[in-house]
Amino acid sequence: MRSNWSGTVDFPQAWEVPATIPDVQEAVRAQDRVLAIGTAHSFSPLAVSPGVHIGTQGLPPTVEACSDHGTALVSAGMRYADLGPALHARGLALAAMASLPHISVGGAIATGTHGSGDLIGTLSSAVRALEIVTADGDLRWIRRGIDADFAGWVVALGALGVVTRLELAVEPTYDVAQTVLLGLDLDVVEAEFDAVFAAATSVSVFTRWRPEPDAQLWLKRRVDREGPWGGSPDFGARPHGGSMHPLEELDPVHCTPQGGVPGPWFERLPHFRAEFTPSSGDEIQAEYLLPRAHAVEGIRRVRGLAARITPLLHVTEIRTMCADDLWLSPAEGRDTVGIHFTWHKDKRIYDVLPAIEEALLPLGARPHWGKVTVAAPAQIVSAYPRFDDFARLVQDTDPAGKFRSDTVASLLRA
Ligand SMILES: Cc1cc2nc3c(=O)[nH]c(=O)nc-3n(C[C@H](O)[C@H](O)[C@H](O)COP(=O)(O)OP(=O)(O)OC[C@H]3O[C@@H](n4cnc5c(N)ncnc54)[C@H](O)[C@@H]3O)c2cc1C
Repeated sequence: MRSNWSGTVDFPQAWEVPATIPDVQEAVRAQDRVLAIGTAHSFSPLAVSPGVHIGTQGLPPTVEACSDHGTALVSAGMRYADLGPALHARGLALAAMASLPHISVGGAIATGTHGSGDLIGTLSSAVRALEIVTADGDLRWIRRGIDADFAGWVVALGALGVVTRLELAVEPTYDVAQTVLLGLDLDVVEAEFDAVFAAATSVSVFTRWRPEPDAQLWLKRRVDREGPWGGSPDFGARPHGGSMHPLEELDPVHCTPQGGVPGPWFERLPHFRAEFTPSSGDEIQAEYLLPRAHAVEGIRRVRGLAARITPLLHVTEIRTMCADDLWLSPAEGRDTVGIHFTWHKDKRIYDVLPAIEEALLPLGARPHWGKVTVAAPAQIVSAYPRFDDFARLVQDTDPAGKFRSDTVASLLRA
C-alpha cells in the first residue's frame, strides 16, 4: 500500500498521475471524490481522503521566466530539487527554500511550508498567481491584486482543487555562504533572540534541549549583501571547521556545503542535498508557529519540559519568518517563529505532545499543517482569524465536497 514518506500514514485509495493539464481536468470530472497529492512528505494525515489521489509529478516540468513581472511560471508537480537549478540556469532565484528540496512546489505551498529568515516569508508567500482545476473540472487562474479572495486560495490544503501551475516571485540569482557554530547556550538565544536571528539572511538554531550549552547555530549569509560570516558575532559559540549534520551523530554528507564556502542559493538554503535522505528518515515531525512576540516565552516553556522531550527527540529547530496575508498561512498577520521537533518514531511522543501544546497553543501557536498535532480541530481553527472566510470559499467553490479530505472535513465541522 502507498504511504507517506515516513511510512506513518497509509493511502489505500487509487492513484492517478495525469501527464497533461487536460488529463487532470478529465480525472477531476470523472470522479466524485479526488485530492491532489505531491511527494507525500507530510507527517499529518492531511492527504487522507476517500477520494482518488491525483499525483502532479507527471505534468510537464514547466519553468518559464516572466521577466516583466519578476515572476516565473512553474509546474506545481515539480520538486524544488529540480526547480532550483532550472531557475538558477535562467539567472533567477527564490527567496526561500525549506530544509529539504525533495518536496513538490504544489504540496509545499498548500501547507504553508517555510524556511528561515527574519525578512523572508513562507514559500507560499512567493505565489503571485495560481492555475487550478476546480470541482467542475474547469481551469482557472487566480491572481494577487485581481481576485479579491486570492489570499484564501494559496495555503488551501488541497480543498479548492488541483493546482497545476504557479507564478512565483523571483529575483536575480545569488550566492549564499553557510557556517555552522557549535556550543550555543539557549540562555543566550533567549537573551539575544533578535540579534541571533539577525546574524544572517537565514538562521537556524538546532537544540536537543539539554542543559549544557550544546546548540548549533546555522548561519546562511547572502554573499552579495552580507558576505560570509567574518568571525563575529559568535554569541559565545565556536565555528565548526568541517561539516555538521543537525542530528550530530549522522554523516554530514547528507547536508549542503558548509564551512563558509559560497555557492548558489538552491545548494545552501536547504540543509539537505537532493540526492540524499533528508533529516533522519526514521522520524515523525511536529512544529508550532508562534507569534514572534511570544517566541522567547515559548522557548522558556519548552525548556521546562526538556526532561520529557529530550529522550524522544532527534533534534529541535528554531526558525523565523516574516508575516504574510494568506488566510491559512502559519505566518498570517504576524512575524512568526517556528519551534520544530524531529521525533524518534516512538508512540510515547503522543504522551508529550499534549504538554507541549498546552504550553504553546495559548501563546497563539499554530500547528504546522504538514506535521503531527494532538490539537482538536476547534483549537486549530481558532488560531486563524480568517478561517470562516476560508470555510465560505470552500463551500462556494466545492459545495459537494469533491476535494474534501478527512482533515478539512473535521476543520469545517469544528
Ligand atoms: C524530512 C522533512 C523535512 C521537512 N522540512 C520542512 C521545512 O523545512 N519546512 C516546512 O515548513 N516543512 C517541512 N516539511 C514538511 C513539508 O514541507 C510539508 O509536509 C509539505 O506539504 C510537503 O510537500 P509534499 O509535496 O510532500 O505535499 P503532500 O504531503 O503530498 O501534500 C500535502 C498537502 O498539499 C496538498 N497538495 C499537494 N499538491 C497539491 C496541488 N498540486 N494542488 C493542491 N493541493 C496540493 C495535498 O492535498 C495535501 O493536503 C518537511 C517534511 C519532511 C519529510
